[in-house]
Amino acid sequence: WYSYFKEDDCDLRKRIDQIIASNDTINDNHFDIVLSTMRKDNVALKEFQEDISMVIDDTLSNAVNLSDNAKDLGEYIHQVTHEKDMDQQEVIFAITSKARTAMETNSDLTKRLSEQQKMVASLQEEYRRVREELITDNLTKVRNRRFLDERLPQLISDANSSKKQLSLLMFDIDHFKKFNDTHGHQVGDTVLKFVGHTMKALFPHIEDCLFRYGGEEFAIVFEKLGKFEAQKFSNQLMNAIAKKEITVKSTKKNIGNVTISGGIAELTPRDDSSSLIERADVALYESKRNGRNRMTVSSK
Ligand code: GH3
Ligand code: MG
Ligand code: MG
Repeated sequence: WYSYFKEDDCDLRKRIDQIIASNDTINDNHFDIVLSTMRKDNVALKEFQEDISMVIDDTLSNAVNLSDNAKDLGEYIHQVTHEKDMDQQEVIFAITSKARTAMETNSDLTKRLSEQQKMVASLQEEYRRVREELITDNLTKVRNRRFLDERLPQLISDANSSKKQLSLLMFDIDHFKKFNDTHGHQVGDTVLKFVGHTMKALFPHIEDCLFRYGGEEFAIVFEKLGKFEAQKFSNQLMNAIAKKEITVKSTKKNIGNVTISGGIAELTPRDDSSSLIERADVALYESKRNGRNRMTVSSK
């Protein structure tokens, strides 16, 4: 329920809203169902990994068989050419028939190897697609909270070990509720998509550093940047967003522009992901208090 009311997990919220819409009450069983279907995503990914490693094992054992066959044939030739009781014709006959059998087996193994290589390639492609889906926010197509939770600790540890700076921007759309209330949720969704799209178009390289944190709040990790350099970038993003007017494609209605407020925190040696997010969040709320459409650097 905490997650539901905090609105940081759209998928969870949608699933629970569906249950509420079709039932009078909600009980533990409903929660079990929601959690088990959400866990299925992870199970599917694990099954893919198992499939891939099974095919790879099989492929490797076929490759070993191929080289064993070649070795066997070599040994056989050596053996029969040293056979004193066989005349030349018998030796040639023995070698050709052995070579023919070996070629037949090898051509069969080669065919299976090539089929398995194709299977590995298609499983890898499928794995890439499923993984991409799991770490991407459905609505805005930017990376999701799941990916931030996985990636931020890695980026922090990389920055610490390479002694490079790292800053985090948390930003939130101003008066977003007004868009929902005035124009409906679908237009609200369009605004969210617009923000994600504009950010990506402005800085294509932020693809894996831009995350939808939840609701109308986003995060950007600036690798190798101190807080004031990160603020400069953030201001550029903020101004670019504020400048654009949004037109809803389906109705061609202009709904004006949207502004964002942000908070920036720079990594210190004492930080982990949650303390860094927390300080950026405090700075974000300072931006809100001071009139919105601004980027505040955390003083701590
Ligand atoms: P502030 O400037 O203080 O941030 O005000 P606000 O109106 O932006 O913030 P508030 O927290 O009051 O409202 C956020 C709203 O965002 C409430 C929630 O229903 C809506 N919301 C969250 N996720 C989605 C979504 O995926 N789609 C749509 N359309 N609305 C969403
Ligand atoms: Mg807001
Ligand atoms: Mg918010």
